[in-house]
Amino acid sequence: MILLNPKSYAWTTLDEASRQLMLNTIWFFETKGKARLKHDDRERVWYTDFLDFVREQQAFARLMTPSGYGAPDSRWDTWRNCAFNEILGFYGLHYWYTWQVSMLGLGPIWMSDNEAVKQRTARLLQDGGIFAFGLSEKAHGADIYASDMTLTPQPGGGYLANGRKYYIGNANQAAIVSTFGKIASADPSTAMYPPEAPAMAQSPLRAGPSQPAPYVFFAVDSQHPNFELIQNVINVQSYVAEYALHDYPVGEDDILSRGAEAWDDALNTVNVCKYNLGWASIGICTHAFYEAINHAANRRLYGMAVTDFSHVRQMFVDAYARLTAMKLFAMRASDYMRSASDDDRRYLLYNPMVKMKVTSQGERVIDLLWDVIAAKGFEKSTYFEMATRDIRALPKLEGTVHVNIALIVKFMANYFFFPAAYPPVPPRTDASDDAYLFHQAPARGLGKVRFHDYSLAYASVDLPNVRLFRQQIDVFKRLLATATPNEAQQKDIDFLLAVGELFALVVYGQLILEAAPVHGVEDDFIDQIFDFLVRDFSAHALNLYSKPSATPDQMALCLEMIQRPVVDAARYSRVWEIVHVLNGLYEMNP
Ligand SMILES: Cc1cc2nc3c(=O)[nH]c(=O)nc-3n(C[C@H](O)[C@H](O)[C@H](O)COP(=O)(O)OP(=O)(O)OC[C@H]3O[C@@H](n4cnc5c(N)ncnc54)[C@H](O)[C@@H]3O)c2cc1C
Repeated sequence: MILLNPKSYAWTTLDEASRQLMLNTIWFFETKGKARLKHDDRERVWYTDFLDFVREQQAFARLMTPSGYGAPDSRWDTWRNCAFNEILGFYGLHYWYTWQVSMLGLGPIWMSDNEAVKQRTARLLQDGGIFAFGLSEKAHGADIYASDMTLTPQPGGGYLANGRKYYIGNANQAAIVSTFGKIASADPSTAMYPPEAPAMAQSPLRAGPSQPAPYVFFAVDSQHPNFELIQNVINVQSYVAEYALHDYPVGEDDILSRGAEAWDDALNTVNVCKYNLGWASIGICTHAFYEAINHAANRRLYGMAVTDFSHVRQMFVDAYARLTAMKLFAMRASDYMRSASDDDRRYLLYNPMVKMKVTSQGERVIDLLWDVIAAKGFEKSTYFEMATRDIRALPKLEGTVHVNIALIVKFMANYFFFPAAYPPVPPRTDASDDAYLFHQAPARGLGKVRFHDYSLAYASVDLPNVRLFRQQIDVFKRLLATATPNEAQQKDIDFLLAVGELFALVVYGQLILEAAPVHGVEDDFIDQIFDFLVRDFSAHALNLYSKPSATPDQMALCLEMIQRPVVDAARYSRVWEIVHVLNGLYEMNP
């Protein structure tokens, strides 16, 4: 079983000190207990106890300081961070969120050339500091070109910052808020930027050339008197702030980056951190799964267990297959992120996929489980009740699903039609520092990124539903080649999103197949995963068929894509037996 069970998981791929950190984190939550966890969630208690634990264990300092700046065992090790991510999601999204927005805030700092701020940051992390990422503004949403936060140069040197930010996690206490804005007057050192937007290049919403924009990232102290903490915008344990800077003094030594670099650092930070959202979903679904199966398998209706209903079994099998797939995909995507270089930027496709596909699948898993446990999922004593709320957040944060699909379709032509040779990327569980993440290439040129041949993964197994899925892919590829979306369709985001969903499934299946043998996933399970992938592909094909602008040729090919998965009752029962065994395996301490 590849699912996390805090009471028996071994983390054998981690070094002893890191393994101990994971066990101590579990110990922290299990000692706190479920009743207290739920109380603090309900009463929106700021998590001082957790942050004290983080400081005592030097958790954020060890996990989020790149080699060379902090203690000897500090390194930015994505594999190790996956384990921590999953545990935090497992116990509560708010604990995960304070770690996540700290990571976002640290991105522009570790990417910066400002050595003094980097050294200070390493010390602040050791002091137990948390961090924040001040990008979003109330009026502008995803349109970060429009940022209003402004630095006005002062006659004696330095700047005064004025403006507001909205939805900024941790900004109530952050040691440094990495804040994004613009310098008011023209600055010859700033470039015309951005040369290419992340998701807008094909958008009808923003046509024409970019405007010159003197973007800047600067370090802000949330406790400074000119920093006004206006409100917590949301109604939960986390603090998601609206803040304003009023003539906030910014020296040259507070500047993290400017111009093209500041823009790239914003996008490259999000490129890395959006990956974590998938792990939060995996953690949430795993805990919810245990609660659901414990309840359903032990509840008797009409003289039988709820898990004896055929539809309940189907929902559990589907939920388990989807959750296993989520984890396999996220683990494999980590390998590519850790092996990235200027010559291998495949992670730029796989990371948004973790963000949008894994988190959307998380919603499916919770929906399935909730349909089984019904009223129980509302009870205040359950973890599940939090899961039903929190799982919804992840597809929406750090770019919505739409924004991320609009991003990945840029890779589609190269992915299908221009494969390139790469040396194999091995499983990356080594204890090394992922230094490239802070030296990524500029955020442009996405259409030039090349991928290895996806069909190699699909040819590596011979299973009925994988074969069927390959046939669906072949028809989709035929649609792209022979009934290519016309110019109007390529400008229609609604149409593009429908195409993007089909593309995403091909990539999803590929990395799942690459990961399955590494993690010892049996053929029965792989085939069960492809059972739902065949169904999902059919559903998205029907969606594309139904688009108002779909042409007769496209519609005919969409109908060809719609397939029924191969039924195998024996395989299904074997998978159900494995799922059923999860009953009673884990229950959080009261
Ligand atoms: C709890 C919470 C915590 C957050 N934490 C932070 C934080 O710490 N720091 C920070 O900077 N921000 C933070 N955010 C902001 C978050 O990243 C944004 O909410 C998110 O990027 C989406 O923006 P929006 O909700 O304003 O949607 P909008 O930008 O208003 O989008 C509206 C609609 O348009 C669609 N859309 C927009 N652009 C495109 C496009 N290019 N292509 C296709 N569709 C598009 C969207 O999918 C959406 O359906 C947080 C938000 C929340 C709710």
